[in-house]
Amino acid sequence: MPISPSLRSVRVVLTAWYTTLLVVAFTLFAISTYFYLQSLLLQTLDDDLTGETEWVLKTLAPRRDTAADSLRRGILPEAIQSLLDDHFIANPRNYIVMIALRNGTILYQSEDWANLGPPPADTLRHRPAFSSRNSPQGGVRTCVNWQDPYIVQIAYPERPVDLALDHLSTIFAILAPLVIVFSASGGWLLAKLALRPIDSITDMANRITAHNLAERIPGRDVPDEIGRLIRTINNMIGRLQQSFTQIRQFSLNIAHELRTPLTILKGESELALQKQESNDETRQLAGIYLEETVRLSRIVDDLLTLAKTEAGQIKIQHEPLEWDKLVHEVFEDAQLLSSWRELSVALNHNDPVILTGDSARLRQLLRNLVINAIQYTPPGGSIGISSVLNGDSVEISVRDTGIGIAPTDLPYIFQPFYRSERAHHHAMGGSGLGLAISQWIAHAHGGTILVASTQPGGSTFTVVLPVRPPHLP
Ligand code: ADP
Repeated sequence: MPISPSLRSVRVVLTAWYTTLLVVAFTLFAISTYFYLQSLLLQTLDDDLTGETEWVLKTLAPRRDTAADSLRRGILPEAIQSLLDDHFIANPRNYIVMIALRNGTILYQSEDWANLGPPPADTLRHRPAFSSRNSPQGGVRTCVNWQDPYIVQIAYPERPVDLALDHLSTIFAILAPLVIVFSASGGWLLAKLALRPIDSITDMANRITAHNLAERIPGRDVPDEIGRLIRTINNMIGRLQQSFTQIRQFSLNIAHELRTPLTILKGESELALQKQESNDETRQLAGIYLEETVRLSRIVDDLLTLAKTEAGQIKIQHEPLEWDKLVHEVFEDAQLLSSWRELSVALNHNDPVILTGDSARLRQLLRNLVINAIQYTPPGGSIGISSVLNGDSVEISVRDTGIGIAPTDLPYIFQPFYRSERAHHHAMGGSGLGLAISQWIAHAHGGTILVASTQPGGSTFTVVLPVRPPHLP
């Protein structure tokens, strides 16, 4: 099953690692504590049992000679027997005791001993020897100790040790889910804290475009990994900014340099056209030169305008203007331009509006849209212009019945130098700069420019402009 991207996030991975490590550490701690406590309790028990066997052997030792006779008969002197009874039967710890001779004769045994059976054979090799054995009452710990001619065996139930270990297991079982919840939420929180700067770096890096390269990610002046990452990205943005500035300057210089020879060429072509002595062929040639020079000059002007907007060298004038009058002028231009292409142009609606803005730039914007509509509409088509006042903004749309724009081209048409494949075939003269400039003009007035298009069917460009740009006081 594919893992969803959200589960692959660094935060989830870090939390999973953190939780796993903590759970593993807790499990190791629980297991080692369990076995350590078990061996500690058994050791204490073994020490107790050793002490008891030593005591019995010590009690028997001084009487070896005097009691030789009784021993030979297989019974302990009464005095010793009652001493042992006092010690073991009165003892609340439930010791199970058996004293025998090396030859197997049992001298003394507490009631439970019969159930326990003989000690394992190898327990007589070293002393004292311990073993855990099963009895009908449960597990017992046995200690076998000897000193000729006596063998003493004492056993004690292991139940107290088992009980302590059971308690410990219960505590660990209760703690385990708490540890998992605690480590998972702790890990989640720690990962969030550690990754918070990354989120803000991502947001900031996403916001940076060619237009705001002067911005930087707010740095934290700490020589840690995040600090280094921020410095590296900021340095990279700095280098990008430098490259962009150089490219803009380069475009500006080229456009400037081209303008003068183009103006001279245009003048010369016009002169050649007007000269009386020029023959038809020369005139025709001069006409072609003039047409191409005008087209080239327009591209160079557009390039210069775009380079200047990107370099922030164009200032928008904010003056009250009669918007409806401007729309009407552009409409008249459109009528003139479309007359030789058999297109009908209509001004469907034109609300009277006084708008604050730059009349030259706004005229340029509208002309770009109208010229595009004329350029990309085949003969016999129609173009409709309408300007409607809508509350605090004016909405002007230029609709055509032209070649339309493919959905795959729509996201790119406002980018400089972008021309669709169909546009190339349909109108050779374009530069792909008109819409980029138009969009900049709309944005500079606090407005937007939208396009809707179908193929076939045509396109509608809509510009929404605030009557008074919001950034003005
Ligand atoms: P151009 O000089 O190529 O017209 P623009 O920036 O004005 O440059 O337009 C960019 C592209 O958008 C055009 O090449 C064309 O593909 C498309 N376009 C713009 N206006 C229209 C329209 N009215 N109808 C169809 N396509 C259009």
